[in-house]
Amino acid sequence: MAEIRAPEERTCTDCGRSERWDDDAGAWRVDEEVGDVYCVHSWDVTGTFAPVEEP
Ligand SMILES: [Zn+2]
Repeated sequence: MAEIRAPEERTCTDCGRSERWDDDAGAWRVDEEVGDVYCVHSWDVTGTFAPVEEP
């Protein structure tokens, strides 16, 4: 049975915005750095993160 894993925090490689996953709200929350509001955001988790973990 594969287990779905979600990243708990992510950082934009362009503007430095950092967010943390709020499990209760089911949404990303700004952690510390707000970054650039006009930035399209390139999250550092997309390239290396594997969404499904094999048993
Ligand atoms: Zn950004």
